[in-house]
Amino acid sequence: MQDNLIRTNVTVIGGGLAGMASAIHLARAGFQVVCIEPAPEKSIIVGESLDWSAPDLLRALGLPMERLIADDIATYKKHVTVQMQDGCVHHYVPGEWLGRPPWNVELRTLHVDRIQLRKALSEILLHHGVNLIQDRVSEVERAGSKVTGVKTESGKQIESPWFIDASGFAASLFPRLFRLPAYEYGPRKVAIWSYFTVPDAIEGTTLYMDADGPPYMDWVWEIPIRRNTISVGYVAPGEAIREMRQRGQSAEDILIERMRRFARFEPLLRAQENISAQVTSFRCRVHSRIAGPNWLVVGEAASMVDPMTSNGVTAALRHADESSRLIVRSFHRPRLPYFARALYTRRVLEMARFFNSGIEKVVYEWPVRNAIGVGKAGDVYTIPAWVMNAVYSRVRPRGLIGTGLFCLSLALLRWSASVFNWLCRRGRQLAPSPAVVAS
Ligand SMILES: Cc1cc2nc3c(=O)[nH]c(=O)nc-3n(C[C@H](O)[C@H](O)[C@H](O)COP(=O)(O)OP(=O)(O)OC[C@H]3O[C@@H](n4cnc5c(N)ncnc54)[C@H](O)[C@@H]3O)c2cc1C
Repeated sequence: MQDNLIRTNVTVIGGGLAGMASAIHLARAGFQVVCIEPAPEKSIIVGESLDWSAPDLLRALGLPMERLIADDIATYKKHVTVQMQDGCVHHYVPGEWLGRPPWNVELRTLHVDRIQLRKALSEILLHHGVNLIQDRVSEVERAGSKVTGVKTESGKQIESPWFIDASGFAASLFPRLFRLPAYEYGPRKVAIWSYFTVPDAIEGTTLYMDADGPPYMDWVWEIPIRRNTISVGYVAPGEAIREMRQRGQSAEDILIERMRRFARFEPLLRAQENISAQVTSFRCRVHSRIAGPNWLVVGEAASMVDPMTSNGVTAALRHADESSRLIVRSFHRPRLPYFARALYTRRVLEMARFFNSGIEKVVYEWPVRNAIGVGKAGDVYTIPAWVMNAVYSRVRPRGLIGTGLFCLSLALLRWSASVFNWLCRRGRQLAPSPAVVAS
C-alpha cells in the first residue's frame, strides 16, 4: 500500500491545456507537482482558433508566437471572416488603434494544431520535473470543504496540501463533488469536425452561416491549423443533430451535407474520398464557488464558453495562471484567503457569463441578428468582446477594486445585450419558422 502512496506539494487533476499550464507555472515556482492524466497521447483535441489574448499567455509558458509558427505548431490568425450562404461576406479585423499605446495589443493571433501544442507543452512540463502520472482519478477524498487526497483507478493514493481540478467539461470532478451551482447558456450543442488538405490556407478563421435568419444559429468553422491543413467543423443544437441521426444520417453525412452548402468546400469534398468525423457535445455553463480552502477549479471544469467566442483557450490559460499564483502566494498558509478565492471565482464567473450571454443573445438567438443583420450583430458582439479581453490582459484585475470595477463593466455589457435582445424581440413579435433550423 505504501508504494502506492505519493505525497507532493500540489496535485493537478487532468493534463489538458488548463492542467498542463497550471502544472508548469507551479513547477517553475519551485513546487513538487503531480499531474494525473489518463490519456497523455490523446489524438483528438479541439479548440484551434485562439483569440487575441492567448499568444501572451502561451509565451508565459515558454511558447512564443514566433516559435509556434516556426515549428509548424500554429498559423497566423489575422482576422475572422463570416461567410453567408447567400455569398455575403463580413470581415472582423481588430482596429489599428488597439495596436497603439496604451493598448499595445498584438494585432495577430494564432490557430493551433492542438496535438502538436500538447506535445510542446508536455516537453516543457517534463523539463520542469512535473510528475505526469498516466491514470484516472476515481475518487476524491474530502474532510468538510477541504480536499485531502485522490485515489486513481490503478490504486494510487495521492496526498497534497493543494489541489487543482482541471478535469474538463465532461468530468468536472470538484464541481460535482461539491455540487457547485452553475449558470447555463443556450441549448446543449453538438460539434462534428474533420480535417482537409488544402493548397491555400488562409490567415484567418472563417465562419459559415445561413443568411436566412434561422431562429437559432448553426454554423460551420474553417480553421487553418497548419500550412496545408484545415479543420472544418459544424456546430448545431443537439436536438437538431438528434433528428438528423434519427433520419439515418451518420456524423460524416451531416458534416458533408452542411459543407456542400458553401462553394468553398466542393473541391475539398471531391478531393477527399474518405472523411472520418470527430463528434463532441457540450453545454455552455459556468460554475460559481470554484475555489475552496485548498483547491481551485480551472479550464472547462470551471467554465465552458461557446466555441464561437474563441475564448476557451484564453480562459483555460488565464485560470491556470491565476490559480497557480494564488497557491504560490498562499502556500505557507493553512488555507486560501477568503477574499482571494472569492475574487478568483468572480472573475471566472463574470468573464464566462459575459462571453456566453453575449454570443447567445446577439448571435445565436434570432431577435438581434434578424433586426440588424448578421454583419452588424457580429460587430455588436465582437467589439465589446475584443475590448474587454484586451483590458483584462492589460489591467490584470486582481484586487477588490480592480475585480469589482471590471466585473461591474462586464455585467453592464451583459445586461445591455439582454435588453437589446428583448427590445428586438418585442419589435418583431414573430420568430422565424423553426422549420428553417433543421433545413
Ligand atoms: C467543439 C469545441 C470547439 C472549441 N473551439 C475552440 C476554439 O476555437 N478556440 C478556443 O479558444 N477554445 C475552443 N474550445 C474550448 C477549448 O477546447 C478548451 O477550453 C480548452 O481546450 C481547455 O480545456 P481544458 O484543459 O479545461 O479541458 P480538456 O482539454 O478537456 O482537458 C481535461 C483533461 O482532464 C482529463 N481528465 C478527465 N477526467 C479525469 C479524471 N477523472 N482523472 C484525471 N484526468 C481526467 C481528460 O483526459 C483531459 O485530458 C472549443 C471547445 C469545443 C467543445
